[in-house]
Amino acid sequence: MPIRCDYHMHTPRCQHAAGPIEAYVERALALGLGEMGFACHNPLPHGYGANVRMTESELPDYVNDVLRLREVYRGQIDVRLGLEMDYVVGLEDYLRQQAADYPWDYLIGSIHYLDPACRTPSWPRNYAGDIHALYARYFELVRQMAGSGLCDIVAHFDVPKRTGRAPGERETEAIAATLDQIARAGIALEINTSGYRHAEPPWPEPYPSLAIVEQALARGIPLTVNSDAHSPVQVGWMFDEVEKFLARQGCRQLWRFEKRRRTAYAL
Ligand code: ZN
Ligand code: FE
Ligand code: FE
Ligand code: ZN
Repeated sequence: MPIRCDYHMHTPRCQHAAGPIEAYVERALALGLGEMGFACHNPLPHGYGANVRMTESELPDYVNDVLRLREVYRGQIDVRLGLEMDYVVGLEDYLRQQAADYPWDYLIGSIHYLDPACRTPSWPRNYAGDIHALYARYFELVRQMAGSGLCDIVAHFDVPKRTGRAPGERETEAIAATLDQIARAGIALEINTSGYRHAEPPWPEPYPSLAIVEQALARGIPLTVNSDAHSPVQVGWMFDEVEKFLARQGCRQLWRFEKRRRTAYAL
């Protein structure tokens, strides 16, 4: 069986994705997916990434758009309601409220800001600071996020490689500890295929790298495969490639989500 769900799609409300949102569903249908879900960037207070996310007042409209599409496409494809929720230390109560306010099918937890003063993503191309310190801080936050109970799926696990520098020897321990924490927390990890299409890093691989996916599989961490589409044509991006990899690894199941409950489906 092929990969049947793609759960990480954005909408024009985040100001950096193309639309219309119907086109994402149409694309998923054309690819033969059984389920697709939106996970647009969540509203955040204090100006965190204000130019790349919807405002608080738009959140109900986003939810209504997705729930409307669910009805329009009922019987053809299951449209899921998700959110890419930025985990920011100190905003846990705010995020918990956001999680409680709507009937989410899943929350994809992501880290983009490494310290409270940071208002844009912390991995500029050709980052000039200490890359090992950056990774150490990043993985520390992923562990905190995994332990917070706020999310169901961990987004783009090794995303700081967008700096152009992949995690190396010195990150081995932090990666292992973070995967252990995800396993303990009983949440899922996404194989995010946007890595294949980003100009940076210059090597074609998803987030996380396939070597890290192998470590996740060894720990029995539940996986999803997501495109992180910011335009309709990116839906299901490189899923064939990932399918072949998972088959070689003997991975026989992936996971689907509904009302924040996870069930396996056969691959
Ligand atoms: Zn985005
Ligand atoms: Fe992200
Ligand atoms: Fe995303
Ligand atoms: Zn993302």
